[in-house]
This record gives sequence, structure tokens and C-alpha cells, in this order.
Amino acid sequence: MALTGLQIFKLLPKTNCKKCGMPTCLAFAMQLAQKRAKLEDCPDVSEEARQQLAAAAEPPMRLAKFGSETSAVEVGQETVMFRHEEKFYNPTVLAVTASDKLTGQDFKERVESINSLQFDRVGTHISVNAIAVMNDSGSADAFATAAATVKDTSELAIILVTESPEAMAAAVAKTADSTPLIAKATPDNAEAMAKIAKENNCPLAVCAESIEALADLTEKIKAEGVEDMVLSLEAEGDHTGSPLREQLYNLSTIRALALKKTFRPLGYPTMSFVTDGDADQQAIYATSLICKHSSIVVVNTVEPYAFLPMLTARMNVFSDPQKPVQVEPKIYPIGEPDANSPLMFTTNFSLTYYTVESDVEASRVPSYILVVDTEGTSVLTAYSGDKLNDKIVADAMAKNNVEDLVKHRKLIIPGYVAVMSGKLEEATGWEVMVGPRECSMLPKYLHEFWK
Ligand code: SF4
Repeated sequence: MALTGLQIFKLLPKTNCKKCGMPTCLAFAMQLAQKRAKLEDCPDVSEEARQQLAAAAEPPMRLAKFGSETSAVEVGQETVMFRHEEKFYNPTVLAVTASDKLTGQDFKERVESINSLQFDRVGTHISVNAIAVMNDSGSADAFATAAATVKDTSELAIILVTESPEAMAAAVAKTADSTPLIAKATPDNAEAMAKIAKENNCPLAVCAESIEALADLTEKIKAEGVEDMVLSLEAEGDHTGSPLREQLYNLSTIRALALKKTFRPLGYPTMSFVTDGDADQQAIYATSLICKHSSIVVVNTVEPYAFLPMLTARMNVFSDPQKPVQVEPKIYPIGEPDANSPLMFTTNFSLTYYTVESDVEASRVPSYILVVDTEGTSVLTAYSGDKLNDKIVADAMAKNNVEDLVKHRKLIIPGYVAVMSGKLEEATGWEVMVGPRECSMLPKYLHEFWK
């Protein structure tokens, strides 16, 4: 946890010698607390104080990175319990299992089906991030072959899941340049797994059956020289996982201890396995764990429909609550419009734009949508906050050269802002047509009123 200016002041020499460029040690401490000065600027700070200040500056939850240059993912380094306090930084990594019991073409098809779990939602590409290679066969050779196949046939990050150090060493030997996440170190294999992680510079997932045992184990592994860890509270075996309520409670407890108490042994990202039940159940569990507070979630379904709620929840939870999702303000042609096609405007709030776009598409009337920059707010919000008015729309029309785009001089406006039609006509000289309040009525409106 960051130290206050007064806490830092207590660690300084208090001689007010001014060598740091500040008039007093207290002034320097205040600057340091606001990250406007560097500790090195004080030549007289003791080694003990230096270490204390450096430790306090460490984030309460470490960052873990894995994956190759093209598939790299980062988890952890969160600073708050709840999104509304500030924001969450590193989206949950969603991984899908690939069992090494599958061989040859069957295994390749499994990898291919995981690779294809990609979707576009409100203009954003969303997809799974990693493949968790499971050593279900118990064979080191089969595990290494499966890991090598994933490396050769997928752009996704790799998680290697086995409790056998022999199998892990064999698989890491085939994938080390892709920096896989090594899972998992348990109280029984911790030393051997830590050695593999350290030698290959890979993060290590640490697994124990209780929060207390997990804290003990991370301390032990840290003493072996491994800094980058991921915490997993799953029992070994079939990865069926504990009841959802218990998992959520444990994940919240771990995060609270890390962030609120700065309890370093638990200051790492977390991983959960949701590999029991059908696709629906996995979607429900995984979505809940994405919301609270799993940094990595591993599922075994490859049903595309199950991923939409998971990926949508992740997209929502990890967006910045202070910055609405926006589309670029410009002209969007829908279909193949020409100089006689309708022109309408909406705002650059992503959800608003894509709703309007899909309804215009459904009308099959080729059209132009002028997206006006309202700082990512919806039509009514923008209007009531004076981010959408006749002048702003007129400026957007001029900036996008709409006069060259269409021969007519008619602009369709959202029904909710019909009140601005008079002023808009004055500001632009164009005829304003008041569209429907709900854009779901746009197809009917365009067919009935656009001439
Ligand atoms: S150089 Fe160090 S001791 Fe001197 S005033 Fe600055 S903080 Fe205080």
C-alpha cells in the first residue's frame, strides 16, 4: 500500500539539508508521496529506509505475464476490490482445456475449435486467450507432444497443467520460447516445479487446499527464487472445483487480504477451473468468476454460445467506468448508399450506434449514418448534458462534407431530440425529418417516409 507523505517523512534523515532541491525533508516527502520526486534525489537516505520505501512502492498484487510475443497476456496488478472504486486493469484470461488423451487429428481439431472462439461485439473483437493443455494421460511424452502441437497450431497463450514435474519438464522443453504458465505447484512437488519455472523464466501456478496453505506455499516458492506466481485453490484430481459460492468467497478473501492488508504471500493473480457440468453451467460459473475476482478462468466447453456471456461480461467488467465505449465519429455507409440515400445522425456511444446500425441494416435501405461526437453518451444523455445540440450537429455535418455526399438536403434526426429540429434547420438550412423515438421502428419509418 502506498505510504503517505508523513509516513515517508519519518523514514527520511530530517536534516533539511536541501541537497534534494527541496527546502525541507517534509516537502521532499510530500513530493515523493505524489510520485513527483525520486528517492535517489536524497543522497543521505539510509539503506534500511530505502528498502522500506521500495517495498511499500511495490503493487499489492503482482503482475504475471505469459504467452509468446504475439499471444502475450497479463493478469493481476489490480488495485481495487470493486470496479466503481476506480477500474480493473487486466481482463480475465479465458482459457479452454485440450486433453492430451486426444491424439493426432482429434487433438488438432480440438485446438482448431478453440482457436475459432472469436466474435465481434459492438465493434470490438473478443476471443479466448489461452489453451490449457491437460496431462490427463499421465504420460510425459503425450503431454509434451500435445504442448508442441498447441504451440505449432495456435496463436493462443499456453497453460501447461500437470502435477508431474517429469511431464512438466518435457512439455516446457517444447514450449519454453512461448513462455507458458506452469500449473501447478503443490505442497508435494513445489521444489521441482519451482526449479522448472525458474530455469525457464515462466510464471508458476500454485495450488493448495486452503488460503492458509496457499500463503505458506507461495512463501516457500518465493524462497526458491520464483517471483511470478498465480494462485489456485482447486483440489487436485478432476478439477471439478468447489461450489461457486465457496470459490467466490475465497477469491474475494484473497483479494481483500492482498489489497486491503497488503498481505504479500497472497498478492498474486488467481486462477479457477470450471470444467464440470454442461456448457450452460460452465458459462454461469465462469461469468460469475470473471466478475469476482478470478484473473484466469479455465473451462472445457467449446460451445460458441457459451462464450458470448463470458466474453461480454469480461468486456463490461474490464471497461473503464469513467469512459463509455465509443465508436469513431464519422460517416458510416450502410449497404451501398448513393447521393439519393437517407442521411441520419446518432451519437458515438457504442451501444447506441450499433443498435441503430443493425436496425438500418434490417431495413435494407442503403443509408448514411453520421456519428456525432458526444463523448460516448447516448442521445438523451448527450442532449441533456448539452453535448448534442444544433451547433454540434451542424459542425459534424460540415466536418464530414455531407453536402458532397448526398444531393438532397434532408437530415433524419432521432425522435427523442425532436425539440432541436427548428434550431437545426436554422443552423444548417437543411430540412429536418424527425425519426422514430425507438430505432427498432427505423425500418418501418424509412419505408414509409423516405422518398
Ligand atoms: S536531501 Fe534528504 S535529508 Fe536533505 S532535505 Fe532532502 S530529503 Fe532531507
